[in-house]
Amino acid sequence: MLAALVLVAFGSLGSALTFNARDGASAGVVTKCVKPGQAAITLDDGPYNWHSQIADLLTSYKVKGTFFINGNNWACIYDKDRIANITYSYNLGHQIGLPSRLFLGSVTYPFEAHHTWSHQDLTTVSAERLDSELTLLTTAFERILGVNPAYCRPPYGNYNDTVVNAINAKGMTVMTWNADSMDSDGYTEPQSEAQYKQLLPSSDGSVIALNHETNPTTASTLIEWLIKELLNLGYELVTAAECAGGDAYQSVGQPQTPTAQWYCPSTN
Ligand SMILES: [Zn+2]
Repeated sequence: MLAALVLVAFGSLGSALTFNARDGASAGVVTKCVKPGQAAITLDDGPYNWHSQIADLLTSYKVKGTFFINGNNWACIYDKDRIANITYSYNLGHQIGLPSRLFLGSVTYPFEAHHTWSHQDLTTVSAERLDSELTLLTTAFERILGVNPAYCRPPYGNYNDTVVNAINAKGMTVMTWNADSMDSDGYTEPQSEAQYKQLLPSSDGSVIALNHETNPTTASTLIEWLIKELLNLGYELVTAAECAGGDAYQSVGQPQTPTAQWYCPSTN
């Protein structure tokens, strides 16, 4: 109700209006799961040092999670270790030998989604930069994993009509969140737990939880606590794509062989 009122109140401002994820939903932007009782644990800003550890943790609890990854933020996605990280988490979905992740149904797996190339506020960049922020990472997805992502989270949850249209034009749906651990805003792990304790009961029956795989205590402690808390509250833990009622990827193919073109331009 509050989100609807906000939209009505600000609707007359038209396309100049910039939304932040904390403001509520805009048309075509996913902020909560389609089905009540579902929760999506999302981990942003990687791949980074604890990526594979978190993928293993999710798998050990037989629950799903989603990595909204960058191309060149905390690390360059073409670094050998980072290629290994996302290939590892992606391939967890292939352990039972099915031909395509799109048909895995209820099987446990993490998956990767788009969080832009270098984590700029997309509402402040040029049209050319907006395009490259999307295209450079999509190219990296196609090279390293052989897939074309279907979901994109704009950095800082900031978007306007131009940003949404650009992401949609690449065939992707915009997803933000409705429960923020504040782990990238200086919250300690106990403070993030307290934040979730406050937010989860009032999350409208479904949860998209925002966390950052780049935060050491998120990796070491918070995610395991959150998994247990959500399961205790009776939530079904799903991928962001399942939460939104869609497929994880626009297309699924084979990874490519690395070439000299696999590098991060020094233009950030
Ligand atoms: Zn981010």
